[in-house]
Amino acid sequence: QIAIGILALQGAFAEHKASLHRLDLNRQLNVILVRNPSELSLCDALIIPGGESTTIALLARLAGLLEPLKEFSKTKPVWGTCAGAILLSESVVGAKKGGQELLGGISIKIARNGWGSQVESFEASLELNGLRDSTRPFQAFFIRAPVVLELSSSSDNLPITIVARIPLGLLPPSLVEENMSEDDPRTIVALRQGRHLLTTFHPELTEDDRFHEYFVRNCVLSV
Ligand code: GLN
Repeated sequence: QIAIGILALQGAFAEHKASLHRLDLNRQLNVILVRNPSELSLCDALIIPGGESTTIALLARLAGLLEPLKEFSKTKPVWGTCAGAILLSESVVGAKKGGQELLGGISIKIARNGWGSQVESFEASLELNGLRDSTRPFQAFFIRAPVVLELSSSSDNLPITIVARIPLGLLPPSLVEENMSEDDPRTIVALRQGRHLLTTFHPELTEDDRFHEYFVRNCVLSV
């Protein structure tokens, strides 16, 4: 069995658990809700859910989990969704006053609540790369989602694979600028670096479990 932890301090952890259970027909996964360092130490991989990134970081600090999580992400696969994507990023803009504690692990710059205040939440059909059945659209929910601003260009970092984009034509108007190209980083909504995965939307809020399957197959099982 493989132990997949879900950080369960705040946010959409129960929905991730349901997705993993739906996926796990052969009962190979042991799903652990992680609230303290000893639960984390049982895990082979971790999902950090959406919610509120500042709150999750604060609760992690109070639980004595902040340093163990930073260590964990240096060696084991971690998937951050929405608020979790912020925590996995190397740098963030638009953090709350008092700052935002980050775990790091993925070398990108991300903008918290980056779609602008007029776009609180929306749905979009994504362009996929490398998921099972990639030609079938994936309907994604964005809820006060972060926006990828920049991929690090340093050659010291592992290469980044783009796993999903919002087609330029479906981007919220607040983000679209003249001469914006199809490959603008702001169109990237899922990416992988090494054994880490980052999605700016909430795959656990749909019954389409292809991103959970991708994480387990490509980040956790394949070494
Ligand atoms: N805006 C939230 C944050 O900054 C993330 C929202 C979400 O996870 N749905 O943490």
